[in-house]
Amino acid sequence: MHNRLLFWHRRDLRVNDNIGLNKAIELSKAIIGVYILDPKIISTKESITPISNSKIWFLLKSLLELKEAWHNKGSSLIILKGNPNYLIPKLIDSLKIQNIFWNRNIEPYEVNRDIEIEYILTKKGKKVLKFWDQLLVDPNSIKTLNDQPYKVYGAFFKKWNAILNLENSIKESEGICPNNLIGLNNFESSRLKDSGLYNLSQKSIEDIDIILERTNYNQFHISPCKPGEKEAKAQLNYFCKNQTILNYDKNRDIPSLKGTSCLSASLNLGTISCRETWRAAKQSKLISRNQREEQSINTWIKELAWREFYQNILLNFPQLSNGPYRKKWEKFPWANNEEYFNSWLNGTTGFPIIDAAMRELNTTSWMHNRCRMIVSSFLVKDLFCNWQWGEKAFMNILVDGDLAANNGGWQWSASSGMDTKPLRIFNPSRQAHNFDPKADYIRYWIPELAHVPTADLITGEITPIERKGYPSPLVNHKEQQAIFKKLYAKLTT
Ligand SMILES: Cc1cc2nc3c(=O)[nH]c(=O)nc-3n(C[C@H](O)[C@H](O)[C@H](O)COP(=O)(O)OP(=O)(O)OC[C@H]3O[C@@H](n4cnc5c(N)ncnc54)[C@H](O)[C@@H]3O)c2cc1C
Repeated sequence: MHNRLLFWHRRDLRVNDNIGLNKAIELSKAIIGVYILDPKIISTKESITPISNSKIWFLLKSLLELKEAWHNKGSSLIILKGNPNYLIPKLIDSLKIQNIFWNRNIEPYEVNRDIEIEYILTKKGKKVLKFWDQLLVDPNSIKTLNDQPYKVYGAFFKKWNAILNLENSIKESEGICPNNLIGLNNFESSRLKDSGLYNLSQKSIEDIDIILERTNYNQFHISPCKPGEKEAKAQLNYFCKNQTILNYDKNRDIPSLKGTSCLSASLNLGTISCRETWRAAKQSKLISRNQREEQSINTWIKELAWREFYQNILLNFPQLSNGPYRKKWEKFPWANNEEYFNSWLNGTTGFPIIDAAMRELNTTSWMHNRCRMIVSSFLVKDLFCNWQWGEKAFMNILVDGDLAANNGGWQWSASSGMDTKPLRIFNPSRQAHNFDPKADYIRYWIPELAHVPTADLITGEITPIERKGYPSPLVNHKEQQAIFKKLYAKLTT
């Protein structure tokens, strides 16, 4: 008789290089996987954190590939729908499993859910084994000398990088999942059937088709983020081997170029391991030919560190998901003009760089990082809309929506976060001038303005005749900037 184990997938939708899964397999090959479609995570109506149709699409497609991977490895992935606090203990009971493995998460809902489930399981005499898989460095080891979490990215990065560069801190691989896993035997299968969970699992698979249909997400051909473990690996290979990574420093801020990895959704749902991205970056150093290229790789690694920084921040300061870090911001006199907000959302502000970016978001469910910074600054500092409106709107559309990175990005742009140099106001035309100098990005996303001279597209000063229906600017940036500065001074003094 084998020692049957259960591995619970959550944000690690892959079988390879998965720390928790590999630790379990080391103990016993008699293992099955489970994924729970938790309405508090993946329902557009009931989710604690908003989730977009495109992200649901990405998640479910990745899940179907994961199910196939488990099957190919000799075992199975059971997909259930409902409340994990009820379903996990029931599954454990029905299969008489003693040990359950999972990788830890950092979002407040997940952390609290895990505490509750672990309590229930421990009371039943079961053993829960938990690992840090979604972060390169265990958050407990990144602390200041006073044992406090870092609040400043620079200091965090120094420590994070030092830990990673210690010899053997990251292994060659955490392991390729073997092909000889042992699935449920007849006895176990019939116990599962008797429990009713088997039927629930069959229904979940049917549900996936229905949910996919209902999400009505049909932009998969243009989504730069591709679901599944295989595609994520292919994307990483492409990014590193076709040398995009070597030119990252030069190109990453130019939204008209494909200069970044587009791995954000894969990293968010763990269709690729963060260690694999880090290893690939390190290996790219072997093909770099000069200091500039090596620097580019280091810059990309710094972006991976931003991801971890924001996850550490949310883990240590969960209250950030509900509001500003700087309490004074709770009293900021937002104008919250709904018409302005809708113009921003629909890409009709009359500021070409803003509208191009919002149209990219609405069409592909993804937006270039430079543009995320420009549009978020604009919503808050030109239109005086509460940054939480923008935060929510992004989560409702983004395929890579991630509570930690999105909240961190919005608090950074709004000046309400931990940033040490908080007051930054982006000038849309200066941003366009620096990062879209030939207006290629603007022309691509606003084709009705393709005929307008580049200089006018950048300044946004377009004559009424040339506008041809494109709206005139909603506000005057200079005036709005002056008002914002006064409001900010009032708030901070
Ligand atoms: C207002 C705002 C909202 C954002 N919302 C999200 C979000 O919901 N989900 C999300 O993953 N990122 C978010 N970001 C960060 C960043 O814009 C995206 O991670 C990046 O554009 C993804 O593209 P990429 O995969 O090509 O990145 P690359 O440039 O190839 O970077 C590699 C990886 O590093 C991570 N990363 C890069 N930049 C950042 C950053 N500034 N903060 C945190 N992680 C980073 C991502 O995981 C990314 O995939 C936001 C930024 C801002 C300013």
